[in-house]
Amino acid sequence: MSGAELVLRSTRVITPEGTRAASIAVTGGTITAVLPYDAPVPDGARLEDVGDHVVLPGLVDTHVHVNDPGRTEWEGFWTATRAAAAGGITTLVDMPLNSIPPTTTVDNLRTKRAVAADKAHIDVGFWGGALPDNVKDLRPLHEAGVFGFKAFLSPSGVDEFPHLDQEQLARSLAEIAAFDGLLIVHAEDPHHLAAAPQQGGPKYTHFLASRPRDAEDTAIATLLAQAKRFNARVHVLHLSSSDALPLIAEARADGVQVTVETCPHYLTLTAEEVPDGASEFKCCPPIREAANQDLLWQALADGTIDCVVTDHSPSTADLKTDDFATAWGGIAGLQLSLPAMWTAARGRGLGLEDIVRWMSARTAALVGLDARKGAIAPGHDADFAVLAPDETFTVDPAALQHRNRVTAYAGKTLYGVVKSTWLRGERIVADGAFTDPKGQLLDRA
Ligand SMILES: [Zn+2]
Repeated sequence: MSGAELVLRSTRVITPEGTRAASIAVTGGTITAVLPYDAPVPDGARLEDVGDHVVLPGLVDTHVHVNDPGRTEWEGFWTATRAAAAGGITTLVDMPLNSIPPTTTVDNLRTKRAVAADKAHIDVGFWGGALPDNVKDLRPLHEAGVFGFKAFLSPSGVDEFPHLDQEQLARSLAEIAAFDGLLIVHAEDPHHLAAAPQQGGPKYTHFLASRPRDAEDTAIATLLAQAKRFNARVHVLHLSSSDALPLIAEARADGVQVTVETCPHYLTLTAEEVPDGASEFKCCPPIREAANQDLLWQALADGTIDCVVTDHSPSTADLKTDDFATAWGGIAGLQLSLPAMWTAARGRGLGLEDIVRWMSARTAALVGLDARKGAIAPGHDADFAVLAPDETFTVDPAALQHRNRVTAYAGKTLYGVVKSTWLRGERIVADGAFTDPKGQLLDRA
């Protein structure tokens, strides 16, 4: 390991080949070798020995609503990337909506990049948006470096980001397929939503009935059919309905290019436990029943679901009213996704290697960053989370780095304390103390 500037050593390093005692050699922010634990440290290299703490590749969260600029009272690049860093995340990809402007033209992308540039504590990339009237902007956005395009099939919740009808979906998909781009989709069918009982009020059971599984299942079936028609690459965002899993498995067997994500809140929280009026648990599609959740875990284990992302979508506390119909829909969980997932996974006999696969390796692959991110392997960025997996903490919203301290995880006791987070060989947070921002803005490779 001659020439190494840093050697990070642990008895438990999670590599693509498994977990082992190792010394990771780093030069110029890149991993140059993963060596035996007791390999000699070269002259001039700094040794950081984290003992029995687990070293995992920094998480890659491809679904985050930063809302900056325009709704920075909800979140922002400074607070979001600090919260992410505190939670072991080293790369995030920002969703194109809830910021004003939305990321739907090259000019708007430039605006977003300018705002993010000096606030990013971790690496940040951008999704573009597919709107009814911006087909002409899709290829320029692709060439400007966005990782793909988000579309809604039902109202998004903000006026400046309208959803696509069937014909508009077909037009966007044809264009995106022409340059082999990726369309990522919020799949709920507007007609099924309109037909569902809309009682409103504080009862969670009423809210759940207003966003039924068949709305998701129908929209996913539509999307899969269109993906097949155009031989396009599509990604199902935040899958909640386990009833859609057979459709997805069938489409894949039929050659449809589809990937699927779900979120920590669908995997760790259940409809049965949501108190009435507790709209910090409101998101769309909704958190469903425990039996549904068991099937999502099974689908993760068997590979029908590829990855897990936060869909961090906060708002100010005043928009989280006790009426589920009108409260802002979005779960704030960016800083907590690793411990929330680890706590649930260990309860189900799953390991940190599984977490790394779902939250780092596969998300990096989804956005084509897997040559650089998502693995502790030579040639990859030296991005790490150092975790004490057996330590617990109780979630105190006031202690979170999110701009708004409202979270559905409040009061939960979770396993897994992030001791430090490293970006390109630099420790960017340790025990709650942050360096100046060192994140880069990423383009599609
Ligand atoms: Zn989202």
